[in-house]
Amino acid sequence: MNVFEATNHYIRKASRIMNLGPRVEQLLLSLEAEHHVTIPIERDNGELAVFSGYRFQHNSARGPTKGGLRFHPTLDADDVRALATLMTWKTAVVNVPFGGAKGGVACDPAQLSQGELERITRKFVERISQEIGPQRDIPAPDVNTNAQVMAWIMDHYSRLHGFAPAVVTGKPVELHGSEGREAATGYGVICVAENFLADLGKSLKGTSVAIQGFGNVGLFAARFAHERGAKVVAVSDMSGGVANPAGLNIPKLVEFVRSRRLLAEYQDDDVSHITNDALLIHDVDLLIPAALGGVLTREVAGEVRAKIIVEAANAPTLPEADEIFARRGITVIPDILANAGGVTVSYFEWTQNLQCLHWTEDEVNARLRQIMTAAYTTIREVVRTRSLDWRTAAYIVALGRVAKAAMLRGV
Ligand code: NAD
Repeated sequence: MNVFEATNHYIRKASRIMNLGPRVEQLLLSLEAEHHVTIPIERDNGELAVFSGYRFQHNSARGPTKGGLRFHPTLDADDVRALATLMTWKTAVVNVPFGGAKGGVACDPAQLSQGELERITRKFVERISQEIGPQRDIPAPDVNTNAQVMAWIMDHYSRLHGFAPAVVTGKPVELHGSEGREAATGYGVICVAENFLADLGKSLKGTSVAIQGFGNVGLFAARFAHERGAKVVAVSDMSGGVANPAGLNIPKLVEFVRSRRLLAEYQDDDVSHITNDALLIHDVDLLIPAALGGVLTREVAGEVRAKIIVEAANAPTLPEADEIFARRGITVIPDILANAGGVTVSYFEWTQNLQCLHWTEDEVNARLRQIMTAAYTTIREVVRTRSLDWRTAAYIVALGRVAKAAMLRGV
């Protein structure tokens, strides 16, 4: 089962519990538009290279579509379909006025110069410039894209259509970006974890944590967990992981990766090197997958030792693994709730851009915390009253909101 089939499985499961019926189910499973483009650029050595680009829009019943751009060599249409669909449910879970979209380019940024990356980004914007816009579809960062890429998107779109900072979020703060956006997804992940632990009468203090992925999301999740007294015992990136049962020195690791180095090169007497597979089955209280999708398979699920999984990555758990976790009493807080902090602050950024305002970091974080806690509390109510797992409860809340909006607007 690929990630798109996995996402559809979760939608069908919730839809059947809700008795939405085949008509509505069909509507919620369909994407509104799939834009495939080719992106020819001149490489630094003068050769021509052609890349595949995607911008898929799943559902706009609740507002303009919204979702990140991923630059990754294995990106394909099914990945983009799954990720676009997830954005619809995620924006509905946190109740921000957007639908869902996703996009990206099948390329490996590690093999590209900064100039080549910029040319790919600008050509991509040129190709999809009629399909995006502040009231139409608003991209944001995802794997291997960052504030600089968002700045090029804003600049190129504005050259074609006039000044329009609200066309994209996750921009640098110096260029109409929002305070707190870079850290927002990791902040939201930790906020949800704290809420869940508090319900168990616990806190992050002393809780052992393993985090797969030490990029934008994983790094901030590690930092916030560490600052709140958690013992972050293992982290990894694409090169492998590092572990220390007494707790890693997270500020030192952050400084290390910020100098563009991989964790496989990290040297410290107290630290041992582990594989990504070993990280997922590390003996911890809390596991945070924060890299790519589909990593928690049936095989891995039987060996996971964490009691709680908070999905910072999109679609890390395949349905057969989800069932094993349920049987084994492992709680999974799903992606569409856990990592919704990023799109929430993207919503704040869009709102500030449209009104030419600039909120302080404290203001952003207070509003973010309020929205994440409200979403958590709403879903917890469904978990408790209907005796469901967290993912099904989150889908029920999201599907209900989207289906209602779609019915009110008319098919
Ligand atoms: P990123 O590019 O900043 O970081 C990705 C991290 O994962 C890096 O440390 C990379 O080395 C590591 N990685 C890549 N391939 C790996 C592999 N095969 N095994 C182990 N680690 C690997 O990306 P990000 O923005 O942090 O996104 C991470 C996840 O969070 C993705 O699933 C993304 O869709 C999701 N997400 C991101 C945001 C956001 O605001 N950036 C919001 C919601 C969800």
